[in-house]
Amino acid sequence: MSSSALSPGDAWNLVVAGGGPAGFMAAIAAAEAGLRRVLVLESTPEPLGKVLISGGGRCNVTHACWDPRELVGHYPRGGRALRGPFSRFAAGDAVAWFDDHGLELVEEPDGRLFPRSNRSSSVIQTLRQAALRVGVELRTHTALQRAEPLSGGGFALQVRQAAAAVGQSQEQRFETARLVLATGSHPSGRRLAQGLGHGLVPPVPSLFTLALRPNPLQALAGVSQNPVGLELELPPDAAPLPPGCPSRFRQEGPLLITHWGFSGPAVLRLTAFAARALHHSGYRARLRLDWSAGRSQADLEQLFADCRRDHARRQLATARPWPELSRRLWLHLLVQAGVDPQGRWADWPGRQQRAVIAALRASDYAIAGRGPFGEEFVTAGGVPLGEVNLATMESRSVAGLHLVGELLDVDGITGGFNFQHCWTSGWLAGQAIAAMSQSST
Ligand SMILES: Cc1cc2nc3c(=O)[nH]c(=O)nc-3n(C[C@H](O)[C@H](O)[C@H](O)COP(=O)(O)OP(=O)(O)OC[C@H]3O[C@@H](n4cnc5c(N)ncnc54)[C@H](O)[C@@H]3O)c2cc1C
Repeated sequence: MSSSALSPGDAWNLVVAGGGPAGFMAAIAAAEAGLRRVLVLESTPEPLGKVLISGGGRCNVTHACWDPRELVGHYPRGGRALRGPFSRFAAGDAVAWFDDHGLELVEEPDGRLFPRSNRSSSVIQTLRQAALRVGVELRTHTALQRAEPLSGGGFALQVRQAAAAVGQSQEQRFETARLVLATGSHPSGRRLAQGLGHGLVPPVPSLFTLALRPNPLQALAGVSQNPVGLELELPPDAAPLPPGCPSRFRQEGPLLITHWGFSGPAVLRLTAFAARALHHSGYRARLRLDWSAGRSQADLEQLFADCRRDHARRQLATARPWPELSRRLWLHLLVQAGVDPQGRWADWPGRQQRAVIAALRASDYAIAGRGPFGEEFVTAGGVPLGEVNLATMESRSVAGLHLVGELLDVDGITGGFNFQHCWTSGWLAGQAIAAMSQSST
């Protein structure tokens, strides 16, 4: 692997633009299947930059979701169309692939899989060594700028090598038989795909937290509650949504109250599925929270009756209706309903009880924007999946061009699903390219 100059006389069997997880997997899979003269171009000084920072520096490589039919449910964009690709290379195949390449993945109780070292650098090392072992070449500081299909097949490429690589910034032209675009969410890759005739679903952020302005729950920052039922609805004055885009979304799971609003796994899942609708409404929505974990009115009335019987002499502040209800949240809901937390269960008027039960079952908050950062920053949108043959990841309109990873209109929720799509699409492209190259020689 090097950052030395490229020469016009070079003829490559495969050039992969983008040294991220999807591009590395494509290059390695092709080379391991016997293809020679494979080159990865990476515009930055180091490849696999997002892998390094992923999962809080630990890299959540994939998720213990072994059935492709279940796996597709974790992709707000992609969904059922990914059944075919995942039936060929799914989470179990990724675990086995890394194991075969010397990296053991360890499952956490919530199903996320991380390298045993708990360091994303182990994943990078594994991918780089695998690429080196099969002769994949890497040019860093080298950005693909133009790609033109040649009349007899293959592509003429124009790249820019930065001064840091070759002493003085320079442009190079050379040819390749096949081209993989694996440029992630970088605008230059989208431009290249569009230049080659592909459409683009406009990119919008996915996986973000929600802001309340002002935040009536600011004093509760740090409180987490699990499970919470979330129901998000766009405001009635939001511009009409595109056909097929729902305006109401539901999730259930852990929720975290932050200084700016709401975060936590259930919120990230909600915003992933609602990414496009929320973008449409300018990130304004009504969020209804069920703090009671789905308990019915009758269940809550019974719990309250039990408390009146069992804790009659205790203060409301010290005896919560169920132990998993956050004490700070309980106090907040009491005060909001005009209830004195020092009062005793025995003396609590029924009217006030009904108000607190109503707040436990449905509290409304006005979402005013996105939070300052998400857990994973992923882009929804990209090249439409219908423009790609999902068995080979080859463009349906440009022979020899393959598209993989986040450049496509695919994104998953948090938990390792985004990388899983990179491993799957990269592997499928690499395998197919090696097979097609061999059959054409
Ligand atoms: C902070 C953070 C944490 C994350 N954590 C996780 C996690 O734990 N688990 C998970 O599943 N997902 C995670 N994700 C999402 C995951 O990182 C992405 O889905 C994934 O990296 C996409 O891979 P890719 O190969 O398609 O693109 P990228 O990883 O973006 O790689 C594309 C590469 O192409 C290069 N490039 C772009 N244009 C050109 C060009 N014209 N020429 C040459 N090179 C070019 C870029 O520099 C880049 O290195 C996280 C994302 C972020 C930002």
